[in-house]
Amino acid sequence: MPKTPEEIIRDEILALKPYLVPDATGMVKLDAMENPYPLPPELRGRIARLVEHAALNRYPDPSAPALKERLRRAFGVPEGIEVLLGNGSDELIQVLALAGARPGAAVLGVEPSFVMFRRIATYAGARYVGMDLREDFSLDIERLLSEIERQAPALIFIAYPNNPTGNLFDAGMIERVIEAAPGLVVIDEAYHGFAGQSFLPRLAGYPNLLVMRTLSKLGLAGLRLGVLLGAPRWIRQLDKLRLPYNVSTLTQLIAAVVLEYGSVLTEQATAIKLERGRLLAELRRVPGVTTYPSDANFILFRVSHAERAFDGLKRRGVLIKSLHGSHRLLADCLRVTVGTPDENTAFLTALTQTLDD
Ligand code: PMP
Repeated sequence: MPKTPEEIIRDEILALKPYLVPDATGMVKLDAMENPYPLPPELRGRIARLVEHAALNRYPDPSAPALKERLRRAFGVPEGIEVLLGNGSDELIQVLALAGARPGAAVLGVEPSFVMFRRIATYAGARYVGMDLREDFSLDIERLLSEIERQAPALIFIAYPNNPTGNLFDAGMIERVIEAAPGLVVIDEAYHGFAGQSFLPRLAGYPNLLVMRTLSKLGLAGLRLGVLLGAPRWIRQLDKLRLPYNVSTLTQLIAAVVLEYGSVLTEQATAIKLERGRLLAELRRVPGVTTYPSDANFILFRVSHAERAFDGLKRRGVLIKSLHGSHRLLADCLRVTVGTPDENTAFLTALTQTLDD
């Protein structure tokens, strides 16, 4: 008799819940930190022509030098720092976890943070250690440092700004973490476009530091392109775990041409930051809402009954994210992505109606 999945598949995988993405058809979609703006028509025309002539019968270039060069210029990557590309930064987290998952090795993250750090560590068979943030979502630095000493983690993931809390941790505290870490520290700068702060200039000074970026939040979530930056001796090893054709021909072509139009994405990020200010100011005025400051393209806020508010918004055609039940510090918390002015107004109206019910 062949064995059942329960007999074959690892216990920690059997124990996982599926990663569910809700259907957003017909909704005002403010749940996934996407940029709400389309690319300008002229640029879309160029993309259409590139796709028309793309050699899709061939495998993509596994090393993607042209795209890497564009990224280096767009991000201002210092000399001597190497680039590793991923099918989204999710895939780069997976490469890192696979690389560091010696038997018994720990992967350390703060909580609450991006859920894929824990999930992917589990996929890789690593032991995930989650260290709670303080009530105000800042780093509990003394506890963090003593846990680093106890666990000697192979990898530490820190999102900067953090998702879902939206804040930038104190840079000096992160430096203490990097200095204390026996292994790699990965600063995940997925929301860098809305924050302006970066550890990129510090890469040369810390041999165990990597910085990760993504084009997803900047307007190309559908393309799937993540970028890992660090010293060649790390990137060379990690590159062995990257599947050879992980970045498709279309992704390479399209990302390169969009970056050539560089200012499009940064102008859209500027518009989003402006709207973030308005959304935050208006949310603060809604009775029963507590907001948290944000350096990202989303806002975390608390109400008295998050599930009820989430359902009420959904009934009114607005999809956001409920974080209630995901971590004790996030009780009755919701997260809304900054959309277009009209989308944000629709959200605010629906929220006010929902809380009045
Ligand atoms: N890091 C953080 C902190 C994120 O919030 C996300 C997306 N939610 C990612 C990485 C993954 O981004 P990508 O689309 O590049 O896989």
